[in-house]
Amino acid sequence: MNTPVSFPEIIKEIQAQNAQLIAVSKTKPESQIMDLYEQGQLDFGENRVQELVDKEKNLPKDIHWHMIGHLQTNKVKFIASFVHLIHSVDSFKLLKEINKQAQKENRTINCLLQFKIAQEESKFGFDLHSAEEMLNSETFQVLQSVNILGVMGMGTFTHNMVQVRTEFQKLKNIFDHLHANFFKQKTDFQEISMGMSGDYKIALEEGSTMVRIGSLIFGSRY
Ligand SMILES: *Cc1c(COP(=O)(O)O)cnc(C)c1O
Repeated sequence: MNTPVSFPEIIKEIQAQNAQLIAVSKTKPESQIMDLYEQGQLDFGENRVQELVDKEKNLPKDIHWHMIGHLQTNKVKFIASFVHLIHSVDSFKLLKEINKQAQKENRTINCLLQFKIAQEESKFGFDLHSAEEMLNSETFQVLQSVNILGVMGMGTFTHNMVQVRTEFQKLKNIFDHLHANFFKQKTDFQEISMGMSGDYKIALEEGSTMVRIGSLIFGSRY
């Protein structure tokens, strides 16, 4: 179990690595979000649409809401007006729906492509081949209302940190490959969202630009 660390301590450590903290507030009450907000934290991550919608409604409007969990296409419409960044784009079908809903809202929605880097069967995400197929397609080229800023991945839930490090290196390689082959001219394609409470230090060492940390700052979820 992770022992909670203080917010000022962890934010300093993350910023020293030029990375950004996404405070994962899923299952946590709005009072705990406000506590961090008052210390200057603006970026919060949620993994369920209903909870995200409810919190957005009640909390300050300058919060940046990050969708980090698997997103069903039929629920995109509920978050399209306000979501700051969707980390969990795991299919072409989902990306097309995000584009459609963004268009309806007259805005562009920032997205990360989620890659399956873990051993576990349960994890969602593209493999390199399916992502390249999408990026090469004409349908992708004409999507005007989504903005791809980088990649996201989750390491295997294990104590084997050698394995987790290898998985993070794999995601960094995927990022470098996509950058070189598809996004070379796109200066805002620069995000690698990887690292959670148990493995963020390794993620930062391997080039993470966004760590998604919940239990370490908010306490464990029951
Ligand atoms: C819950 C969650 C996190 C944060 O997990 P912690 O171990 O509590 O830090 C990060 N990323 C995703 C996608 C999550 O669902």
